[in-house]
Amino acid sequence: MIKLDNHPSGRHFLQIPGPSPVPDRILRAISLPTIDHRGPEFGVLGRKVVAGMQQVFQTKHPVAIYPSSGTGAWEAALANTMSPGDSVLMFETGYFATLWQKMAQRLGLETEFLALPGTDDATGLPNSWRHGVQPELIEQRLRKDSAQRIRAVCVVHNETSTGVTSDIAAVRRAIDAAGHPALLMVDTISGLASADYRHDEWGVDVTVSGSQKGLMLPPGIGFNALSPKALEASRAARLPRCYWAWDEIVEMSASGYWPYTPNTNLLYGLSEALDMLLEEGLPKVFARHRRWSAGVRAAVAAWGLPTQCADDKLHSPVLTGVITPRGVDADAVRRLIHERFDLSLGTGLGKVKGRMFRIGHLGDCNDLTLMATLAGVEMGLKLMGVQLAGSGVAAAMEHFST
Ligand code: PLP
Repeated sequence: MIKLDNHPSGRHFLQIPGPSPVPDRILRAISLPTIDHRGPEFGVLGRKVVAGMQQVFQTKHPVAIYPSSGTGAWEAALANTMSPGDSVLMFETGYFATLWQKMAQRLGLETEFLALPGTDDATGLPNSWRHGVQPELIEQRLRKDSAQRIRAVCVVHNETSTGVTSDIAAVRRAIDAAGHPALLMVDTISGLASADYRHDEWGVDVTVSGSQKGLMLPPGIGFNALSPKALEASRAARLPRCYWAWDEIVEMSASGYWPYTPNTNLLYGLSEALDMLLEEGLPKVFARHRRWSAGVRAAVAAWGLPTQCADDKLHSPVLTGVITPRGVDADAVRRLIHERFDLSLGTGLGKVKGRMFRIGHLGDCNDLTLMATLAGVEMGLKLMGVQLAGSGVAAAMEHFST
């Protein structure tokens, strides 16, 4: 029989880019007794988490909070703003951008999926999966849309499958430069609360996020941050929606309640996560993740391996994708590391399956967690017979001790 908790000694190292390790403080908050979700105590909790999430999204406008995974929040963004047959312009940056595009098709939308063409000579991997969104390609496409059929531009801020971020403010500028009225919808499911994100300042209409990454919670809460333009679009949109409908949820959650049973205990956890993040201050939280990311990259560079992100300005603060040498199955490396060292790394997804693995540096994590993680990876690579140029662990120690 397979045991569910098979970690005989010490703590499991969950270094995937989400779900991230949950701090004890949050686990304790989640264990509070469930309360009446229509009673007065709940209203205090509901109002607190909505106001706190507005601070995290850096918005003054409504935030809808769903008992759902991130996929539900993706669907909510589209179902509330689009009508059957509407056109959306999306950009291929990796696996999650691809899944969102497939969802839009399944919802009856016409999708156009822009991508950076070609493959990278050194690795043989698609360029589009090593770089961010190209705002100039979006601008060019929108300029050609003289009938203004495109209703939304949808992009992923922190592509969890590759470890590449995209410049969202530049996408907004591209839409404005083309003089196009399309909504801007952004997935920052894995970026929020680890990477700087500014819903209002960057002119985003709908931001989609989830609980199990930078918010350090278990999976199960989805978010839509809205703009007045998105709310206006939702009044005319005709895709059917009920569970996801913004009108009721936004109206009720202003007073701290939900139109249906919310996930009370996860909301306790969210309240605790907000206390932790806002006590530390978002700029410090972002700097902490950037520093971890640079430390992990120092290790990868010392090993002599390429990162999946090929653009130095766009490395994710949340995760690092590591490309294994040709002929070395990245999933075999991951499996060995899991079996020998009880360390979970993220698998390569979609077009990069077997070619890379992902190291998460988010959630309940610190310099020493990452040192142990890098030691596990280095030992695993050596056990797999990969010739390393040098010690990544030594390079990361240097980075973390300055
Ligand atoms: N978008 C991104 C960028 C993600 O990282 C994920 C999950 O990892 C999703 C969407 C899908 O979210 P979920 O798995 O919570 O439904």
